[in-house]
Amino acid sequence: MRKPVIAGNWKLYKTKDEALALIEELAPLVTGVDSVEIVVAPVFTVLPALPAALAGTGINLAAQDVFWEEEGAYTGEVSPRMLLDAGASHVIIGHSERRQYFGETDTTVNKKIKAALKGALVPIFCIGETLEEREAGNTFKVLERQVKGGLEGLSETQFAPVIIAYEPVWAIGTGKVATDDQAQEAHAFIRGVVAQLLGKDAADKVRILYGGSVKPENVKGLMGRPDIDGALVGGASLKGASFASIVRFGE
Ligand code: PEP
Repeated sequence: MRKPVIAGNWKLYKTKDEALALIEELAPLVTGVDSVEIVVAPVFTVLPALPAALAGTGINLAAQDVFWEEEGAYTGEVSPRMLLDAGASHVIIGHSERRQYFGETDTTVNKKIKAALKGALVPIFCIGETLEEREAGNTFKVLERQVKGGLEGLSETQFAPVIIAYEPVWAIGTGKVATDDQAQEAHAFIRGVVAQLLGKDAADKVRILYGGSVKPENVKGLMGRPDIDGALVGGASLKGASFASIVRFGE
């Protein structure tokens, strides 16, 4: 009932030519996969170069961040309308690297989610605890605060397009993937918080992706769990063959 999403976060990698080469490698490997929503997220400067290469491939284009104002004196920012103009349909919001290095908070994440939705972009809303928070027994408390803070003020209808990505910070880029049980437990908890906030129907429908060292070797186990609806993939999305084999987890 929930269509899986496999999204590649290219982070600060790939110039335009490198990105086009990656799409050229990836596209034929995922042709005909229509049971999975496929997304790639390059840097801002590469976005406008990709729609032509992605046409007919079924691969969707995401930005890695967005600002909440439409225009104005905000040097260095990019608005939802500008992302649409560049060909993006999705946008990653609140990635832990942005929370850690660029001062993103639940409040700024909330403003960005609202702006993205208003601008007809699909937000991929990232949450996740640090190792310290997990070891202190605060995982659920942190996730609840992030979900409630990020979604504050949204109605069920406004929330409908949102995709959530659970990314334990200790698993991102470390090679240390959460166990299937740890991920499932967190996803079920997050779905419960969404149910509390927006109702059971919204909770049943929302796709919750797992992120953190997802690889072709571990994706199947994760995707076998009932509350895991896809993956947000960093390192393994930078090569066509590994990303394609994650996309084809079900085969
Ligand atoms: C990410 O960037 O969101 C991520 C999960 O990275 P990695 O797959 O490299 O851990």
